[in-house]
Amino acid sequence: EAKREGGRRYVLFETSMRERAARRGDIEGDLRRALNEGELFVLYQPVVGFLEGGGSDHSAGVEALVRWQHPTRGVVPPLEFIEVAEECGLIGALGDYVLSKACRDFVQWQEELGDGAPRLLAVNLSRAQLAQPGWTDIVIEILRSSGMHAQHLQLEVTETLAAQDRQVQQRLHELKALGIKLALDDFGTGYSSLASLHLLPVDTVKIDRSFVCQGDTSDHHRVLIEATVKVARSLGMDTVAEGIETAAQAGVVRELRCDKGQGYLFSRPLAASALPHWLAAQSTTQMTLVPPPD
Ligand code: C2E
Ligand code: MG
Ligand code: MG
Ligand code: MG
Repeated sequence: EAKREGGRRYVLFETSMRERAARRGDIEGDLRRALNEGELFVLYQPVVGFLEGGGSDHSAGVEALVRWQHPTRGVVPPLEFIEVAEECGLIGALGDYVLSKACRDFVQWQEELGDGAPRLLAVNLSRAQLAQPGWTDIVIEILRSSGMHAQHLQLEVTETLAAQDRQVQQRLHELKALGIKLALDDFGTGYSSLASLHLLPVDTVKIDRSFVCQGDTSDHHRVLIEATVKVARSLGMDTVAEGIETAAQAGVVRELRCDKGQGYLFSRPLAASALPHWLAAQSTTQMTLVPPPD
């Protein structure tokens, strides 16, 4: 019985491996075309600043999130193609496209909105992108040609990535030397710990959604958020709570003194052209979405 079970599992496994490989091959071919045909686009999710003492919140920035408008599959999310792009050597082209498009959109908001424009643009990086030889020069060129100021740019890396080899560390220091800010993404899901946070040259710690979404129901998660905020603060880093979906979750992370929040409660990722409308609507409603702690 056990053997038959095992055998069946093996067949299932083999089929799914083959399916995955075939699907991956499809995605790879399609992705090459997508880059050339301009099927990739960028959405922006607002990041909201929490004011000390429960004053009204303000828009602190946006995070650029890539999407793929596939001709037959519809909109494909990044987790389905970033890894493939890394494996087949397309991540350089893809990442540079996202960075330069996001910088151009950001500069356009600044021109259009003046003081009302977002203050920070966050862009996600993957390992292969960061490790490209000469990538710092590419970043300098993208900043120059878009008119983007380095101090408004925040590059996001995951903790496993940031803690890696000397080459990556060196690159992170080069970027920091340009005045670019660095954020540690999805904190709490990787292998590094609070104890090694001081070794990383980051300005901001983004607390992963898996903690935030249980912050209002689980003491354990609440304590972890609290500890992360305290350690980050003592190192002069600020914190962002990711994936806030409910007012209760927002209340908790505010109370635990997270500096900023991001999530569907405030806004889903938006098209560049829709962001000014969202900002205008926020300023008229005074960001009353998040009740201040009592
Ligand atoms: P991330 O950087 O942690 O981005 C946050 C993800 O959480 C986004 O998913 C966002 O849409 C989603 N999210 C935001 N608020 C909520 C919420 O309240 N509830 C839930 N359930 N989800 C929320 P998305 O856009 O699918 O991106 C997934 C990941 O793909 C990103 O995670 C990032 O690691 C990666 N990624 C996205 N764009 C790029 C890119 O241009 N380059 C690279 N290298 N990676 C990217
Ligand atoms: Mg991110
Ligand atoms: Mg994240
Ligand atoms: Mg994530």
